[in-house]
Amino acid sequence: MYQVVHSKWEVIVNRERCKGCEICINACPQENLSLSKNVNSQGYHYVEFSEVGKKGECTGCKICWWVCPEYAILEVRRIEKTDNGS
Ligand code: SF4
Ligand code: SF4
Repeated sequence: MYQVVHSKWEVIVNRERCKGCEICINACPQENLSLSKNVNSQGYHYVEFSEVGKKGECTGCKICWWVCPEYAILEVRRIEKTDNGS
């Protein structure tokens, strides 16, 4: 039996702060961000994150965090996932 540890980046978005301006979407080099079909309580389509974008996995560059005028990108963090094999 063995364990495989995968390490990935994760972007945490505060949906309620997001105004759907798409600045972060256009700035992301990996295209990991997109607008949800759903809206928040203010009626804005908010941003959703996916681990694998059109150009690959999130690199944790934090550009999205830097460019958001609403401080809606709360955190860009490294997460570890462990798979058990045999
Ligand atoms: S950290 Fe970088 S690669 Fe990841 S979603 Fe934000 S801009 Fe895109
Ligand atoms: S830059 Fe901020 S407010 Fe604009 S779409 Fe992205 S997360 Fe939402």
